[in-house]
Amino acid sequence: MILFFNRAQTEAVPYRPIDKSTSPQDSPSRLHPNSSHWYNPPMPKRERVYKAEGVVLRRQDLGEADRLTTIYTRNLGKLRLVAKGVRKPRSRKAGHLEPFTRVALMMAKGRNLDLITQAEAIETFPDIRSDLMKLGHASYLIELLDRFTVEEGQGNLALYNLLLNSLNRLSTGSFGASGIILYFELRLLELLGYRPELSNCVGCGAEIQPQSQYFSSHEGGVLCPKCGRSRREARQISLPALKLLRHYQRSDFETAMTPRVSEEVQREIENTMQAYITYLLERRLNTPEFIRRIRNFETPDEGNSSR
Ligand SMILES: [Zn+2]
Repeated sequence: MILFFNRAQTEAVPYRPIDKSTSPQDSPSRLHPNSSHWYNPPMPKRERVYKAEGVVLRRQDLGEADRLTTIYTRNLGKLRLVAKGVRKPRSRKAGHLEPFTRVALMMAKGRNLDLITQAEAIETFPDIRSDLMKLGHASYLIELLDRFTVEEGQGNLALYNLLLNSLNRLSTGSFGASGIILYFELRLLELLGYRPELSNCVGCGAEIQPQSQYFSSHEGGVLCPKCGRSRREARQISLPALKLLRHYQRSDFETAMTPRVSEEVQREIENTMQAYITYLLERRLNTPEFIRRIRNFETPDEGNSSR
């Protein structure tokens, strides 16, 4: 049910700037983005209330008793929603909106942000909450997903499933956390269009030979020794570390987990991934914010899309 915050819809009904030459039947209240009429158009009933399933990423206190809750949903991607009265002692929603909780939601269109009217936990991952290490690892996954995604009204089912599967794997503890995290990082990057190139040199295109190489965060992949030596920002990567990254990249989760990894290679991979992710996040900061601002400017209230 992709009805709200939908880019396709907002494009279909573009925001028309105030035009002084507008014909009289277009009253100013229909056109002026600051008029309450514009913000609160009469809407068909089925669109005022909608359902979604999602995982709570984070929350933040709002006013006296409310909370702003960020949820990654199955069908609508990331949403920021207001949970009214959730900090009151007798709130029925409170326990269902804790971070990591998989929750079924009922929402209502709000003036600016939509409101959570009902919340029912589906999975709470108690094993993650009771174990500080698991909690730390799960928090990292959540933060990574949060920082790499923007609210755009479109779900990414593969990414949602990756999140849920990874939380489940951390929760049961049947696999090592470092493997779960590396698998999550590589899949997330792939699903969002940042798959590191590991087979051919990103400098000259030559096929990578079985020897130590370089990795360039700037260029998004591995560099042959010849190209790598000429790039100051490139970092060395050993053959075992590169082999393991490639194995993860082309395997399903269970297959990816099979090789035993030395602590040294593990450390090397973690450092390489952190450098790449940090580089991407720093570079990303401006663009999504810029796009979001433009989109907000063009569609002062997403509710208009129904008109
Ligand atoms: Zn090269």
